[in-house]
Amino acid sequence: MQLVDIGANLTHASFEADLPQVLERAQAHGVGTIVVTGTSPAETRKALALGFWTTAGMHPHNAKDCDAGTLPALRELARDPKVVAIGECGLDFNRNYSPHPDQEKWFVAQLELAAELGKPLFLHSRDAHPRFAEILRNLKVGKAVAHCFTGTAEELRAYLDLGLHIGITGWICDERRGAHLVPLMKEIPRDRLLLETDSPYLTPRDLHPQPRARRNEPAHLPHILRAVARARGESPEALAEATTRNARAFFGIP
Ligand SMILES: [Zn+2]
Repeated sequence: MQLVDIGANLTHASFEADLPQVLERAQAHGVGTIVVTGTSPAETRKALALGFWTTAGMHPHNAKDCDAGTLPALRELARDPKVVAIGECGLDFNRNYSPHPDQEKWFVAQLELAAELGKPLFLHSRDAHPRFAEILRNLKVGKAVAHCFTGTAEELRAYLDLGLHIGITGWICDERRGAHLVPLMKEIPRDRLLLETDSPYLTPRDLHPQPRARRNEPAHLPHILRAVARARGESPEALAEATTRNARAFFGIP
């Protein structure tokens, strides 16, 4: 079984001490390809230096730090063939680390950048429905993935109508706040489903024993695959094949 983790924050400080072992465990669990999430130009540079596939963008949390140098920096990074998407970008009205007008301004700027460069988008939305979908609709967005989808049925249908791919994380394994996702899995067209761990965050809650310091890592992706396969009534093997094919096609990874 070969899997692609489409969203892992492997430049996070919690991986500094043992990244080679983390990658070995990922390999041993069939996770041979990882797309490291870029949340700022600095993180993308780090990911490239480590040899990863990655994305180039500014997370909505960082919108307040954007300036005249942001877009040129992202445009320059996007020239690297290992930068396979623009993002992570979007709206986060849950934490509100940046004011909403700043978030919207830089979200739109990155949507336009992706269109200019012909790159797919890696999108983040938290508690930002329906504004998030409204902006995408107005800009007629191209190929894009709503990463770490945790929303409602209505939100999912709005995203599917927009033609988005849907990224599913271990949130679905959380019986307290992810149970609503289980019946929604069947609604996602097979060719638009992608899997991700969002490491080191979102450790699947039903993983026993829980990893040390509850740090999530790409080796846990098969656990998420099995949960999604169960919810869809499919075999994990068939779903692995489909989601891997989707990820390679989406990001243009050989
Ligand atoms: Zn995110």
